[in-house]
Amino acid sequence: MEPNAGGPLLEIADLSKVYGPLKALDQVTLNVDQGEWLSIVGPSGSGKTTLMNIVGCMDQPTAGAVRLDGRDLSALGAKELTQVRRETVGLIFQKFHMIGHLTALENVMVAQYYHSLPDESEALAALGRVGLAERATHLPSQLSGGEQQRVCIARALINYPKLVLADEPTGNLDADNERIVLDLFAQLHEQGTTLIVVTHDPAVAAQGEREVRLDHGRIVQEIRHRAARPGQVLKEAGHVA
Ligand code: ADP
Ligand code: MG
Repeated sequence: MEPNAGGPLLEIADLSKVYGPLKALDQVTLNVDQGEWLSIVGPSGSGKTTLMNIVGCMDQPTAGAVRLDGRDLSALGAKELTQVRRETVGLIFQKFHMIGHLTALENVMVAQYYHSLPDESEALAALGRVGLAERATHLPSQLSGGEQQRVCIARALINYPKLVLADEPTGNLDADNERIVLDLFAQLHEQGTTLIVVTHDPAVAAQGEREVRLDHGRIVQEIRHRAARPGQVLKEAGHVA
């Protein structure tokens, strides 16, 4: 598939999420194209995780609309949302979320179990994609933090999701493992996967083609780091609100 070939994979319009008087998200409008790599930055409490959870079908907005891969999420029931989450989205978190008494391979197979039938060779191939085939039978306690995060990435990628959502994926990693994870993201990007990466780290954010900054639930800045397509003319970076 040619990266960036399609229109928007994700269309977010006037999205709000309130908790009493607190506006965790305040009328966010944002489109993400097929194959795009978008970074989301902003201070703690600015709404980044809330946004990822809504796009990842794990939370519902108070107002506004989210269209993901042509489907209006607000029109879907719980069962259909679960299906979209399993089939379209791969989620990567800062905390590793591995099941302690299962091996790396079994941790990947758990994700398959929810999707279809567990297939050991497929799970092993997913571990191979993140460079961990030889660690398949290790328990989480026998893996470094970086290796555990890569198992979680393998698990997120098992169903070849169109959209990968990563919420501070390198927050717990040292520089070497951060590089390995960013290289994996670059590979996914080359293969046409759409990536949204929340990060505190300006160097990680700069890997994306575009960066949006949230503050108090609003998009306050948008920066273009790279053209989405070779040859595309860069617009000047600047404030949007
Ligand atoms: P970030 O990921 O940018 O640090 P969050 O999206 O986690 O920010 O949170 C945005 C705001 O919403 C914060 O003020 C947070 O305290 C609040 N918030 C998030 N989840 C809840 C919840 N379940 N109940 C009440 N407030 C919440
Ligand atoms: Mg957060």
